[in-house]
Amino acid sequence: MAPPAKMNVPFLDLASLHAPLQAEFDEVWAKVTEANAFIGGTWCEKFEQEFAAYIGTEHAIGCANGTDALELIIRALGIGPGDEVIVPANTFIATAEAVAAAGAVPVFVDVDPATMLITADGIEKAATDKTAAVMVVHLYGQAAAMDSISEVCEKHGIAIIEDTAQAHGATWDGKKAGSWGVAAGFSFYPGKNLGAFGDGGAITTNDAALAEQIRSIAFHGRSITSRYHHDNMGMNSRLDGLQAGILSVKLRHLDGWNADRQRVRDRYEAGLADLAALPLVGVHERATSVHHLCVVQSDNREELMAYLGERGIGNSIHYPVPCHMNDPFKKWAPSIAPVVTETAAPKIMSLPMYPALTDDMIDYTLEALHDFHAR
Ligand SMILES: *Cc1c(COP(=O)(O)O)cnc(C)c1O
Repeated sequence: MAPPAKMNVPFLDLASLHAPLQAEFDEVWAKVTEANAFIGGTWCEKFEQEFAAYIGTEHAIGCANGTDALELIIRALGIGPGDEVIVPANTFIATAEAVAAAGAVPVFVDVDPATMLITADGIEKAATDKTAAVMVVHLYGQAAAMDSISEVCEKHGIAIIEDTAQAHGATWDGKKAGSWGVAAGFSFYPGKNLGAFGDGGAITTNDAALAEQIRSIAFHGRSITSRYHHDNMGMNSRLDGLQAGILSVKLRHLDGWNADRQRVRDRYEAGLADLAALPLVGVHERATSVHHLCVVQSDNREELMAYLGERGIGNSIHYPVPCHMNDPFKKWAPSIAPVVTETAAPKIMSLPMYPALTDDMIDYTLEALHDFHAR
């Protein structure tokens, strides 16, 4: 049994993040509603420009959510039935879902045991003459090893699609995640490092023709030159003006918030250094992580999670069931077993991680983690 909770440490706290910005949010609401700019329009265009500049790409295209962003890229590249797309087995289900939604086959590969990210080696082993693209997922806020991945993909003619849903602002060798591949998909789900007040997403790319194709598909396949003609089989995936306005306000604070996440991470790292039973999933030295999540591995996870819960400390798992072990994906069983992913799945768990987490809350959490292992 855990001692009674003395503090409440939620897993995530958006209210504290938003409170100081309330007046700016109110202004967005007033202006967007006054202008009736509900879908697309001024606020979307402004946010798209700001976001492209932030990531360092020529174009950004707003869409309805991160899953659509990925599907739009795959479809705009003409990838579909008969094509294979390599996907890390350790990722959120949406990565694989987008591949399947486009009619392509997800080919699951294993990840690096230190970072839990996809590697050049994993891609190379899974490459066939049907491989059209790879979903490089910058999971947990880290950036994947983009130099070696780019090299191997160039060698095999594989398009790099980045899933940057958890890594707004992360870098590899100083260059931002979301600016390496042919295109990248971002999510603005409220809990992401940059989150809207509902669903939202974006695609970044340097390819003008691809950007146009994505815009068309996202808007019912509409022709760029004639609004009554539909050149492509499309879908409806657009960003709301209200969400774009909120995102512009929040984008100005993203770097500051990411720096706060680094403070949290540093304190966890220092505090866990003497606890060999609870290793942190590491960050590569050539990468900067934006620490979307703080993931540790425990041989006694279920008990530890219950113990933390009793002490008022939130926790979660990302992700307990590897993609390929979920029913709808079982038909695409990987030919090489993703042993690292499958071994880690029952051990990984996520500690509270967000900019408003105070040093006192982190210390309280660290104390609980030590108490649990001293029992
Ligand atoms: C959140 C997330 C997505 C999907 O984004 P939505 O906006 O929820 O559709 C895709 N990939 C990863 C890795 C994610 O974390």
